Amino acid sequence: MIATTIMIPTEKLKALGLSGNNGIHYQLGPAELTEQAVLRGQGILNDTGALCIQTGEFTGRSPNDKFIVKDAGTEGTVDWNKFNIPIEEKYFHQLKKKLLEYLGAKEEIWVRDAYACADPAHRLNIRVINENPWSNLFAYNMFLRPSERELENFEPEWHIIQAPGFRADPAVDGTRQHNFAIISFTHKTILIGGTGYTGEMKKGIFSVLNYILPHNKNVLSMHCSANMGKDGDVAVFFGLSGTGKTTLSADPNRKLIGDDEHGWTDDSVFNFEGGCYAKTIDLSEEKEPEIFQAIRPGALVENVHFFPGTTQIDFSCKDTTENTRVSYPLGFISNALEPSIGGLPKNIFFLTCDAYGVLPPVSKLTPGQAMYQFISGYTAKVAGTEAGVTEPKSTFSACFGAPFLPLHPGKYAGMLGEKMKKNKVNVWMINTGWSGGPYGIGSRMKLGYTRAMITAALDGRLDVAGYTAHPVFGMMMPDSCPGVPSEILNPRSTWADTAAYDAKSKDLAAQFVQNFEKYASGVTQEILDAAPKI
Ligand code: ATP
Ligand code: MN
Repeated sequence: MIATTIMIPTEKLKALGLSGNNGIHYQLGPAELTEQAVLRGQGILNDTGALCIQTGEFTGRSPNDKFIVKDAGTEGTVDWNKFNIPIEEKYFHQLKKKLLEYLGAKEEIWVRDAYACADPAHRLNIRVINENPWSNLFAYNMFLRPSERELENFEPEWHIIQAPGFRADPAVDGTRQHNFAIISFTHKTILIGGTGYTGEMKKGIFSVLNYILPHNKNVLSMHCSANMGKDGDVAVFFGLSGTGKTTLSADPNRKLIGDDEHGWTDDSVFNFEGGCYAKTIDLSEEKEPEIFQAIRPGALVENVHFFPGTTQIDFSCKDTTENTRVSYPLGFISNALEPSIGGLPKNIFFLTCDAYGVLPPVSKLTPGQAMYQFISGYTAKVAGTEAGVTEPKSTFSACFGAPFLPLHPGKYAGMLGEKMKKNKVNVWMINTGWSGGPYGIGSRMKLGYTRAMITAALDGRLDVAGYTAHPVFGMMMPDSCPGVPSEILNPRSTWADTAAYDAKSKDLAAQFVQNFEKYASGVTQEILDAAPKI
């Protein structure tokens, strides 16, 4: 069964508590994992050779079922809130035992050694134990891949134990329902059960790094993508889910550092991951050629459907979920930077997908406005798929990533503020969302225009434009931008009903102010002055 020359760490797995007579598939490559998934009836190859699977009951993360073990180490350091939900240590031990017994009783399991953080100084070794081959393929694609030599003396610091088929019993296991993701910082273990959504593994490690790096190592961890220009200038793109981190960082003229999770040290920006996890809903070769071409042997495609009678993916199909995804190693993007470590950022973009159509498509922020926007972490999604529901729903998520931040947002914001000042970074806000009216009336900003705005900001061509301050939000809007019709640069002039724009803009400003109340006492006057004017 084992088709590799690398030694299986059997004794260590036993010591972990994994007993039974498993066939252990250790460190298999993508071709073998793909074949095994197909042979076991868990997946089908599409016409370009990528493995297509269904993740099962869960097709997205389940934030209400993510727990952090509350113990002497975390009690006073974790910011306990609706995303950082405490669980007692006894439940962690109980569930770990049950999970290992469950996996121990399986005929076969998949184990892989990997690491996070491209910067060797911050490298985090991880051993991933999976119930399914495709989950293990995800780990191969998304974490960094040690060389054979590095594997000889590999010592895992963290473990991920993941079993989608295992169900917790909430009555005795301390969980909310049958699925869970539990992080123990003391035991350096992430337990995942009852959900096959692969993103739980990557965002689990991201949460771990969001604790360790700022808390112990003075490195700012960020929910952002990053890329690098020809002369080495680095840009980072912060944004909540769906705002364009992955899409906009894949730029044929710039080297990709990473699409989702990075660290900012005193002299570099480095990727935590070894791969990308891109959305595929409505994917087209014309608009997003890099991502489209990454769907090939080795890629793992989740929750898509084929056109009837074919193995051609229907990217418009939402039958399982709108959150269809593909994971692939960074090298599938032709201009990926390896190792994925760049210099200090010269430009920061805050991406927002404003479905109200209020914020300008591109604007420049003062340092105070930048901090205000970072702490606010605004985006507004389209309300949903229910018929008749057209009102967008706003989200404020501190540091553009509250669900993954174990520490108080003030910690990350303070570090970003210091780094921005020290490095004199330009900060831009990009609205990838609606223009010409809110959702239902206006339309989403053309991807080509957004790309042109970012390119102009990066190559200095926006520095020569004249600017006008937004009357309510205060950010500076350029009067012209190469490759973009000037009339769309000021959102107010794109609305047929300007009175409606003014009203909506005030309404959104009020939401910002209300959301900011909880931070107001802990920030400087410079940041408070950057609040929108109602
Ligand atoms: P996540 O954190 O969930 O990975 P993300 O920030 O990486 O989210 P993307 O995967 O880049 O978000 O999603 C942006 C989606 O919006 C893509 O499907 C993209 O095709 C679409 N889109 C449409 N118009 C634009 C635009 N003007 N700018 C950016 N993305 C756009
Ligand atoms: Mn992404």
